Amino acid sequence: MTGTARYDLPEADAFTRPYWDAAAAGRLLLRRCADCGRAHHYPREFCPFCWAGEDRVTWESAGGRATLYTWSVIHRNDLPPFGTRVPYTAAVVDLAEGPRMMTEVVDCEAAELRIGMPLAVTFREAADGVWVAVFRPAPD
Ligand SMILES: [Zn+2]
Repeated sequence: MTGTARYDLPEADAFTRPYWDAAAAGRLLLRRCADCGRAHHYPREFCPFCWAGEDRVTWESAGGRATLYTWSVIHRNDLPPFGTRVPYTAAVVDLAEGPRMMTEVVDCEAAELRIGMPLAVTFREAADGVWVAVFRPAPD
């Protein structure tokens, strides 16, 4: 990479590569434990609830539905390239499958944001071939 450093791009490794490949294909992946049945996010090799090992935790596609837990409209961010994107809405959402996820809400005026509002996943291309899950308002 030349020019200004970027602070918005993932550093995929062998474990997280399936997550980023799925995002580039328009799918949000979660990890689910076969022992306790719970899903989690961000992806971990083991289950953060019952500590089952990597042989018991697998990838699955999320349905893409969520509700808004909390948010902050960002008006200033000095880390490139965020400053070129202000204002934007940093958010925490509750996925229908249970996990709470840090993300961004798009296509929604700040005055329209409401705790508990229904959201649907969509994907934004952050760099060539690098797609990140974000959420937009969805009908009930
Ligand atoms: Zn578990």
